Order: sequence, then C-alpha cells, then structure tokens
Amino acid sequence: MGSGTPEPSAAAPAAAHPVVLLIEDEPQIRRFLRAALDTQGLTLIEAATGEEGLAAAATRQPEMIILDLGLPDMDGLEVIRRVREWSAIPIIILSARGQERDKIAALDAGADDYVSKPFGVGELLARMRVALRHSARGAGEPGESKFSVGDLQVDLAQRLVSVAGAPVHLTPIEYRLLATLVRHAGKLLTHHQLLNEVWGPSHTEQAHYLRVYAAQLRRKLEADPARPRYLLTEPGVGYRLAAE
Ligand code: CA
Repeated sequence: MGSGTPEPSAAAPAAAHPVVLLIEDEPQIRRFLRAALDTQGLTLIEAATGEEGLAAAATRQPEMIILDLGLPDMDGLEVIRRVREWSAIPIIILSARGQERDKIAALDAGADDYVSKPFGVGELLARMRVALRHSARGAGEPGESKFSVGDLQVDLAQRLVSVAGAPVHLTPIEYRLLATLVRHAGKLLTHHQLLNEVWGPSHTEQAHYLRVYAAQLRRKLEADPARPRYLLTEPGVGYRLAAE
C-alpha cells in the first residue's frame, strides 16, 4: 500500500515466472520448497540468513518473500521491518506452530500471511496465490469494487451485500468490518489491524468487539454460522475472509 513502492511500468504484467525469495536457514525446508515451487513455474531464490535475504530482496526484486522467523543472524521481524521501509512486496511467514505472539507481531509489522510448520504445500501455495493477486492489483489502485465468493456478493461501490441473490441488511459497523475483510480478501488480518481499521486506533485492545460483530455477521451471511464458509477465524490471531 506504501506509495513509495517502486511500481513496475504501466500494466504490470502478471509475470510468467514470478520470482520468489525464500529466506530460511534450514536446508531441508529449502530443499522441500524448491521441489514444491519448481512444479508451479516459480523461480526460487534462496537465502540462508537475514542479511543475505535483505541483499537479495534489494538486488533481485522478487515478487514475493517467504520468510522464516527464526534466522541465525537476526530476528525475522527485523527483516520484515527493513523490507517494509522501502517495499510493499508480499511477505509470507513460516513459523513454528504455537508461536501465536510471533505470528501476530509479524503480521502487525507488515507481513501478509503465515503458514505454520509443518505445513502442507497446498496451503502455502494458496496463501501465495492470494498474496500475488493482491500485489498484482497494485498499490494505489482502486481495485475491484465487486467481490464474490460462493453465494456471497459484496459491491463496495454501492455498499450492497447479498447472499444467493437476496439482499442482506447490515449495521454500519457490520458493514465496515465486512468491507475491510473484502478489501483484503484471502488475507489474514490480526485483531489489532481489524480493530484499528473498523473502530479506530483507540480501540485496538477491544478484541471482544470483534467476536461480537463477527458472530453477528456470520448469522447474517453464513448458511451454518457455527461452521463458517466465508468469515474464518484464525484462533488467537485474527480473521480471514475466504477468497475462493
Ligand atoms: Ca529457522
């Protein structure tokens, strides 16, 4: 979103072979990802330390970074902060399971998403598709005003929400929460990010607001609110609107 992002010229073509930078010190994980990404027509650049990764990010201009949080020479959070000083490139975090605080800190520092180790390739590729789609849409672009997934349709320009063609009436806060999720569809948003965007910076500790309004939205949007199809909870971290 940063306006300081170097923009590729005019109609940034969806690169045929997106370049992905993997910053990870464990050789087994690098080997595993090399094999997995190779079948996807992606070009992989590898770095085993934070410093190497930062240098490669600057010189090779990848379309995406996959970043391990536990690096030998620096904290992955530091890598995120330093990349975010000059680039809005998507960053997906690899983190050990259970490190909720680290994940949240990484997302709040500007990471786009995370997968927990051990992870499935399918899950990682899905996260990568979402992140690449967001970045292809470009910084400062108005983006699509109409969003749909399954039976849910949201028209941001007209502020219309419908499920299976039937209009749904939302309160202003319900709508603002949904619209925020739609603008970042597929992406995991932390409690902090959602509260800041929907209720404002003075309410970022009020996670119970979110629980209440997410439940209300589910009652209005989901066929089975107890098993949501659209508004997904990432326990202890935040929420994600399904994008596919
Ligand atoms: Ca590591």
